[in-house]
Amino acid sequence: MITLNIAKNASEWRREVFADEPSCALCGERATESHHIVYRSHLSPRALWIVENGIALCKKHHDECHATHNAILPKARLRAAVDAINCVESIPVKHFTKGRTA
Ligand SMILES: [Zn+2]
Ligand SMILES: [Zn+2]
Repeated sequence: MITLNIAKNASEWRREVFADEPSCALCGERATESHHIVYRSHLSPRALWIVENGIALCKKHHDECHATHNAILPKARLRAAVDAINCVESIPVKHFTKGRTA
């Protein structure tokens, strides 16, 4: 059984990511940035705010994550993020109401 935490929006997501990991996951310094492990550009809208795909980092390690494409992150953390995303992306969604077009 898998439990996933999905936030409603960006600010809730940030709050949840920092609540799980108040300090930088890599060095323990105060975390100031929340990073999408699998980048937002690779996610569908419903997978954007999966808390398991977020990691709290200091500025230096956030920059390093992007520079190395996450090579500095622990493998287990990468796997957990990918598993959570695959899980969400495989759930069929039914549309009960018609979306409004602006
Ligand atoms: Zn750090
Ligand atoms: Zn980032």
